[in-house]
Amino acid sequence: MTYPARSRAVAVVDYESPLQVIELDVPALIDDAMLVQIEAATACGTDMHIANGDMRDVPTCRVPLVLGHEMVGRVVALGKGRRTDSLGRPLTEGDLVAWASPWCDRCYWCTVAKQPTLCVNANLNGFGPLTSFPYLTGGFAEYCYVPPRSRAVLVPEGLSPALASSATCAFRTVVHAFETVGRLKPTDTIVIQGSGAVGLYATAYAKIMGIPQIVVIGAPADRLHVARRWGATTVIDVMSTTVEERRDTVLSLTDGRGADIIAECSGVAPAFTESLSLARRGGHVLVVGASDPRPSQVHATNFNMRQISVSGSVSADISHFWRAFQILKHHSSEFDFEAVLGDEFTLDSVGDALAAIAAGSMKPVIRPHTSTPAHDTKELSEAR
Ligand SMILES: [Zn+2]
Ligand SMILES: [Zn+2]
Repeated sequence: MTYPARSRAVAVVDYESPLQVIELDVPALIDDAMLVQIEAATACGTDMHIANGDMRDVPTCRVPLVLGHEMVGRVVALGKGRRTDSLGRPLTEGDLVAWASPWCDRCYWCTVAKQPTLCVNANLNGFGPLTSFPYLTGGFAEYCYVPPRSRAVLVPEGLSPALASSATCAFRTVVHAFETVGRLKPTDTIVIQGSGAVGLYATAYAKIMGIPQIVVIGAPADRLHVARRWGATTVIDVMSTTVEERRDTVLSLTDGRGADIIAECSGVAPAFTESLSLARRGGHVLVVGASDPRPSQVHATNFNMRQISVSGSVSADISHFWRAFQILKHHSSEFDFEAVLGDEFTLDSVGDALAAIAAGSMKPVIRPHTSTPAHDTKELSEAR
């Protein structure tokens, strides 16, 4: 593969303008960096929120930016010193890889706490800015520049690039979050709030970990059907039930105790309030999806009188990418994982992909190399 001089990329230029397809210079390869050609990317609700300006107050999100943080790509060129993935497996041109955002390795959280996803100097993939090195960090582009210290893993043979891409946000986040629960028990009851990609991947994870009773609260019906196929033993339509009815159902399934674990994957503030009413005394609430700017109302007595514990996590490090890929690889015969994928779009129709998310699609797939020829730069008025 020849090293490209320019790359088309979908940019949020500012929060007042529609998405634009622009061309950026591809920076020269420095030591330990890597250039990849995007094979597939997937769009996420977060991309929609960034494009809509909902995240303008988030300090790590810096416009102008190249959008997209779920992607896999093929190695075009390796900088000096970058010869293997993060498991020591040799990397060569053409290999399909995924990579984590580059943590700094020189802050308290990277070094002492060993919680790199809390790094204070992180330059998150797809969060910009495109005005400073390494410019091309978003997945809705022909090429991504993977800077030094970005840990990378090979995508297992046989895994489709689009499915692997969808695992680089939702699934690896689920894997990381479940690590904070401690040991799952083969007698547990889990309630999963939310039936988007995060909730469905959490359902599959619970099933694979041997949890016998899995209750999924969500909507609409087609997503609840996927939840059933992926291991839900009970599904509850959140749109046609009340908080009291959902609680009654969970209590009736647990001899009146409540569930051992609640995984909040819906992201809406009232769900966290509800989660505490679904948990048994001494149960655990796992916060995976929270992104609602509204506060949740809770009684602090849940945490002493009822001894409910709460944990959560943000994003994932490269170990969680690897684990998510291994799960997809080893369990593809039991789960139709591709059910999370939506229609396919080009760079020029990313605005349509974000509109599809707003209309209920889980993971629209972006194929940057099926786009119209370079120099055909146009505005995407459908973006909002
Ligand atoms: Zn995402
Ligand atoms: Zn750091």
